[in-house]
Amino acid sequence: MAIEFKKLEYDSSIFNPMQGFEEERQTIEVRFDPLTGVRRLFNVDLAEKAKHVNQPTDENLIKMIAEKTREGCFFCPENIEKGTPKFPPDILPEGRLRKGDSWIFPNLFQIYEISAVGVIGKDHFLKLDQFSVEMFINFYSMIIDFCRTVHSRKPELKYAAFGMNYLPPAGSSVLHPHNPVFMTRNPFPYLDSMMKESQNYLNKNSINFWQDLIDTEKELGERYVGRTKSVEWMASFSPISGNEFTGVIPGKSNFLEFDKSDIEGIAQGVTKILSFYKNDLQKNSFNYVVYSGPLGEKNNSFWSNIRITTRPNFSDNYVNDIPLATLYFMDNFFDKMPEYLADRLKEYF
Ligand SMILES: [Zn+2]
Repeated sequence: MAIEFKKLEYDSSIFNPMQGFEEERQTIEVRFDPLTGVRRLFNVDLAEKAKHVNQPTDENLIKMIAEKTREGCFFCPENIEKGTPKFPPDILPEGRLRKGDSWIFPNLFQIYEISAVGVIGKDHFLKLDQFSVEMFINFYSMIIDFCRTVHSRKPELKYAAFGMNYLPPAGSSVLHPHNPVFMTRNPFPYLDSMMKESQNYLNKNSINFWQDLIDTEKELGERYVGRTKSVEWMASFSPISGNEFTGVIPGKSNFLEFDKSDIEGIAQGVTKILSFYKNDLQKNSFNYVVYSGPLGEKNNSFWSNIRITTRPNFSDNYVNDIPLATLYFMDNFFDKMPEYLADRLKEYF
């Protein structure tokens, strides 16, 4: 077992007016991602302050916006065929792909060779505990079929990823539940770094990093949550964003290797985590991403994995969670410890 969960801490003092200007010492814990070395900061004392920053969900505002945007929504069933773009014939002769209530078509705004939009289903708005496993299984199967089809016609587009922005605080301009799907010839920068470090890890330790991560987290039991079908879930030791969990698809380096158990496992895990976000953390906005190694190439060092995270609650005075320290220092800081989150999420598994 070669994996290292490196952390260190330092203190900072203030004289706090809310405590009669008594000295208050705060401990900051610094954690380093065991694969990439990227550092993250935790201040458990921020939890109190975060209550002022993390506004509760404004249910009335969401209801109002859902009603206002429902009419004329291009992702709703009555408009999807007349209002959404089509792929050129060399990519998809039929223009769009459909599987049951799920659809995939090009985004109006392209940032990679393929920037697509996958619409999950016919519902215009869903609360986080209203997404169903069946809905996601159908949807993910369609995305994998899409990647397989496009890759067979454009084999140079071997890097693919999909994920979700839900509600405006997570970067979504359309309320209707959907996933951006990207395909490109060069790896996405963070994926590139994960793949390179995974290869370095294998070379240095003669063991696959992801296998080592699962085994070590299971043995430690502090952040390991559980398994859904083939997929293993844990709270991220050094997360990219807040309240984050990592899911690993063991032995599968890319989407084209996914089988039924992998797709069902992702669907079940995501559904459980969304229920946890809503019912335990009272969150309503989130992102997730599913990473893939190069399509059609067996990669022994890198395994496909998922990251899922909350974003600020949607309310009329919400506070964004990417301040300058995150934007310009590439530091990110959190209140809830991964061990706490894993412990709470276990009840949903
Ligand atoms: Zn809609």
